[in-house]
Amino acid sequence: MSIAIYPGSFDPVTLGHFDIIKRSADIFDHVIIGVLNNTSKTPLFSLEERVKMLQDTVSGIDNVSVESFDGLLVDFVKQKNTNVIIRGLRALTDFDLEMQMAQSNRVVAPDVDTVFLSTSVKYSYLSSSVVKEYARYDVDVSDFVPECVISKLIDKMKGL
Ligand code: ADP
Repeated sequence: MSIAIYPGSFDPVTLGHFDIIKRSADIFDHVIIGVLNNTSKTPLFSLEERVKMLQDTVSGIDNVSVESFDGLLVDFVKQKNTNVIIRGLRALTDFDLEMQMAQSNRVVAPDVDTVFLSTSVKYSYLSSSVVKEYARYDVDVSDFVPECVISKLIDKMKGL
């Protein structure tokens, strides 16, 4: 059975992420979304909120599950008995960092490979940061995030 890990912050999940998730689920038998509990970044949404929004987003896809992880990505990948990481690429600006991460992961875990999926053109501009910026200024975000995220984003901005 081919298993792949799609890691990220997902703060919050966007339709760009969801597009990569759906396409990955068509390629691999099982996709585990790994939500990073990143202590060096202060996310807008808590780890539990990010996991819940992803679970709601992927609830209709049988071969996708959501988990959180701490620490090194390659350790999480091995724990899940796989050696495939999925990452999305939007533009050249993503490339440097993604290449560096993929290569450094291979230094510490030579059997782990990163598979890159290129963004669908309609989501090429989309990031969690852009979505948060729009929401902060009351721009309608329904074209950018899954339905279940919209009200959570609005509530979060009201509480800030
Ligand atoms: P990270 O903090 O690990 O970069 P993100 O949640 O920002 O986490 O992104 C997770 C992955 O999804 C990354 O590989 C990123 O390049 C990819 N991604 C983000 N937005 C898009 C998009 N609009 N289209 C395709 N891939 C995307």
